[in-house]
Amino acid sequence: MNKKCIWCLKEESEVTFLTKAHTIPKSLGGQNFNPNVCDSCNKYFGERTYKYYSIETALKETFNVTRFRLIQKDKTKRKIGEFKSIFFDLKSKKNHFTIVVKDTFRFDYVSQNQLCRAFKRGLYKLYFEELNRQKSIGYENTFELVRGFSRYDLDDLPVYYFYRSFGVMLMLGNELETPILYFERMNYLYSNEYFTEIEFLGHVFGFPIKKYTPNDLENYIQNSLKLKETFFKGCKEIKRLTDIDLLLTIMDEK
Ligand SMILES: [Zn+2]
Repeated sequence: MNKKCIWCLKEESEVTFLTKAHTIPKSLGGQNFNPNVCDSCNKYFGERTYKYYSIETALKETFNVTRFRLIQKDKTKRKIGEFKSIFFDLKSKKNHFTIVVKDTFRFDYVSQNQLCRAFKRGLYKLYFEELNRQKSIGYENTFELVRGFSRYDLDDLPVYYFYRSFGVMLMLGNELETPILYFERMNYLYSNEYFTEIEFLGHVFGFPIKKYTPNDLENYIQNSLKLKETFFKGCKEIKRLTDIDLLLTIMDEK
């Protein structure tokens, strides 16, 4: 069967599939590839579509903060996939973590709204490429919404972040070195026809995967929060990256 790109839906006769498309960025320790991403779509996500950064950068910068915090706990671990942040200075002293936002990020040209949008599009990329890799789906028409937002910059889809009630996170063996994207590891992850949830590096996000009505949204939030009431205290639609508990400060609460 001919290869077909999950993003642009073009086949091998029209596009090439020569470069390896990391589903989770290499600099975050990702080691999996999706063979169904064509070269031009793969390139797109790594290009500076936003004046100073790419979609992939927005994703890496964000999760790198969490990874830094988690990896520092266990310094004996070999660190793979380190990279130099352009937005944050990360510091740790005796198990105390601080994140200092660089001036360039604070004052100049980086619009927080835009960075958040880039991050959300990156999160969808992560989700969609892993979904296809793990479950061999993604070509269905219903994923038009996902493709449109992430690859073609259409619409604006909401992404919800769930706040934990306490800082217990389940991480398996090498998960810090090679992070894994989960669709249903824990039974608190809820999904239905319109919305889905993923867990990545201790963070839980929920977002639409299909056109929905305000009523669908309300139902989703209600059902999801009900399922999570033991472990989570609520959720918020992310508007800025600071809405995410990037340093997992919940782990410090006694
Ligand atoms: Zn493509």
